[in-house]
Parts: sequence; structure tokens; C-alpha cells
Amino acid sequence: MDVFESRESEVRSYSRHWDAVFDSAAGSTMHSEDGRTFLDFFAGAGALNYGHNNPVLLRPLIDYLLSGAVVHSLDMKTPAKRRFLETFQELILIPRQLDYRVMFPGPTGTNCVEAALKLARKVTGRTHILSFTNAFHGMTLGSLSVTGNSMKRHGAGVPLTNTSSVPYDGYLDGPVPDFLWLRQALEDSGSGLDRPAAVIVETVQGEGGLRAARASWLRGLAELCREHDVLLIVDDVQAGCGRTGTFFSFEEAGITPDIVCLSKSISGFGLPMALTLFRPELDVWSPGEHNGTFRGHNPAFVTATAALEHYWRDDRFAADVAGLATRLHEGLSRIAEATEGSVVRGRGLLTGIFYADPEAARRIAAESYSRGLLVETSGPRSEVVKTMPPLTTTAEELQRGLDILADAAEHVTGAPVTLTTVA
Ligand code: PMP
Repeated sequence: MDVFESRESEVRSYSRHWDAVFDSAAGSTMHSEDGRTFLDFFAGAGALNYGHNNPVLLRPLIDYLLSGAVVHSLDMKTPAKRRFLETFQELILIPRQLDYRVMFPGPTGTNCVEAALKLARKVTGRTHILSFTNAFHGMTLGSLSVTGNSMKRHGAGVPLTNTSSVPYDGYLDGPVPDFLWLRQALEDSGSGLDRPAAVIVETVQGEGGLRAARASWLRGLAELCREHDVLLIVDDVQAGCGRTGTFFSFEEAGITPDIVCLSKSISGFGLPMALTLFRPELDVWSPGEHNGTFRGHNPAFVTATAALEHYWRDDRFAADVAGLATRLHEGLSRIAEATEGSVVRGRGLLTGIFYADPEAARRIAAESYSRGLLVETSGPRSEVVKTMPPLTTTAEELQRGLDILADAAEHVTGAPVTLTTVA
């Protein structure tokens, strides 16, 4: 028994499936102490969109740290923070005609969700929040109260209140018109649904099984929220920062959420950082009303700025991601076709294969690991094999990952897979 098993809490999870002690990494590759090499299609659960130790981000980070500049600063002013705000404004907000105030909550995804929920309640004076079936928004009490997974909810130890879960796109398989129930419930004073402060939604359900909302569904949701004066929060913690091909995952739908949550890959380098963005009219916070010690992590501002400058100054990176996403979708479709009942789910480089038998998905992920590919499962029964390679993955690496996955799927299901190599 090693110290991880003897000393670390039972709550640990990834290290149970992946027994390697990972000691170095570069781009889309990780190495373990015992000499194994892994292709990483997990990408730090979406925190490593630009890969491991990306030199474009590492160099400015090292220079910054060696320069004697300020590392920790709560929300005091620093040149690193100024550069980040100016760059974010210039390269992300202005070109997309988004006028958002930028709030720095604590540095994790759940922190920016908590801030969003709190703000929505404060602005509207209402308490209720609507979330969707199979949503995942984080593990602290507020974000857990809008998360679907019953095992995770149970961990709260207290009732999770002031929220209701409503069907996500595709949940009812189409026999009921989208939003029929929600529209009726909002309009009917006898429905028993408290008028909500906000609706919180992921455009692709990263943890809950990779269902992707259609652009038309998202537009319908935005419209419904507008009609009923309900705030729309998009949780782009996992699907944002280019993961679906555009910087924000909601761009394709052409909607403008009232509040947006960003974390994971916003720092680009895997350093903790999060943002809650909202329309200026919603900025009703009193100074210090929501604060925290780790809101000013300057090394994260430095790498975040470098990532925006390098990858988001023009459309080339987005075009590369779109090309990779097409290849990934192609390959996964071939693998899914081999097994009855399997379908490809997701969008962009947040895509996977649903298996009717969750045991097949679990075993395929395990067989992939033993063949040198890191992929996790997603969904309430872990029934989806999830691929989330860094956006900087090369076409050759993508193909190699797909080959391993196809081999693992063939081994588990016994059904031959023909992958046409997309050169
Ligand atoms: N929202 C979404 C959509 C997420 O995928 C996650 C993390 N998987 C979170 C929030 C919570 O982020 P964190 O783990 O950094 O608290």
C-alpha cells in the first residue's frame, strides 16, 4: 500500500482508475514514474485546453516569477491583472459585442457558480433557481443544489433547497415540445413553481453524460427567460475557452446570457482562476460583499493573458479546433456504429460515445488506459466514454488516440471497428 492509499482520504477518485504516478507532461502526453507514456484525452478535466506545460505560457510564467513581481494580491491592482483585463476586453469581449463586468471570485469553477447564483438572487430578490436534469455545476452547497447527480447531492448532508430541476434538451426524447412544461409552469400561477431568479445551463453537459443542447433549444431557452424576466446563467466552466470551437460555447447559438461562469482553462496553464461575467446593470454588489483570499493569483493572470494573445487574436486557432473536432467526431462515429445502441454525444472537442451498457463504457475506458490513453467516463451511470483532448493536440495524436480507443472498444464489445484513417 502506498502513501496515497494509506494516508489520502477515501474521497480520492481518479487515482483509483489510473494507478500511475504521473511525473512529467508535455502537450497531450503524460509520463509516469515507472516509464509509461500516456496520450492525455482527459486534459485536466478541461483545465488544460492548451496542453501540459505549453511553452507559449510557461516562458512568460517563469519570467514573471523570476522578476520579483507580485504573486498574491487579493483584489488589489497589479500590472498583471491590468494586462489580463485589457486583453480579455480587447480580444474576447469587444469583438463579440459582449459588455460584461468581470468579477474575480475564488479560483475554482464552483466559486464562480456560487457567485452567479448569489448575484441572481440579489438582483431579482427571488430565491428559486432552475437547473437541468443531469447538470453539473460544482460541489459546494449552492452549486450542488443545481447539480443533478444523486450520489453527489447526498454528500451535502443537508437538504438542497430553493432549486428545481427541469428537462434538458433531449431528456424526454422529443415526444413533448421543448419548454412546453416550463412555459406553462411559468405562466400558470397555480403550477406550484416559484418564479425563479435564474436558470443555469451548460451548453454541453460535461459531467452529466455529454448531451449537447441544440442551438435552437438554447435560443428558445433564452427567449423564455427574457419573456419572464428570469436571468440566464451559462456555466461555461468546462465547455468554454474554445472547447466547443468558439471561445464561449454559446456563440454558435447567438445568445447573450445575463451571467457567464468561466474557470478551468481560463488561466490556460492549469493554474486556478475563475471569472463570473455579467451585464453591467446586474452589478449590484456592495464592495466586499462577496470576497475571498485567492482572487488575485497573478501567475494565472500572466498565463491567461499569454493564452488569449497567442490563440485568440485571430480565427486560426478556432479553425484548427473545428478541423480536429470533425476528425474526432468521424472516428468516434465509426467506433459507435460497431455497437448497437451506441451514439456519439457532445460537441467540438467535448465529445464521447454513449453505451447502453455502462459496464462497456467503464471497461473501454480501463482498456484504453492499459493501452496508454487517458479517457474518463461521464454520465449518471458512467455510461459515456468521454474524449476531451487538449485543443492543441496534433492530427497524428488524435488519430493515435482514436486507434487506441477503437482497439479497446473492439476488445470489450467483440465487434470489429473499421477506422478510416483521416490523413
Ligand atoms: N461547472 C461545470 C460545468 C463543471 O464541469 C465543473 C467541474 N467539472 C464545475 C462547474 C466545478 O468546477 P470546480 O471543480 O473547479 O469547482
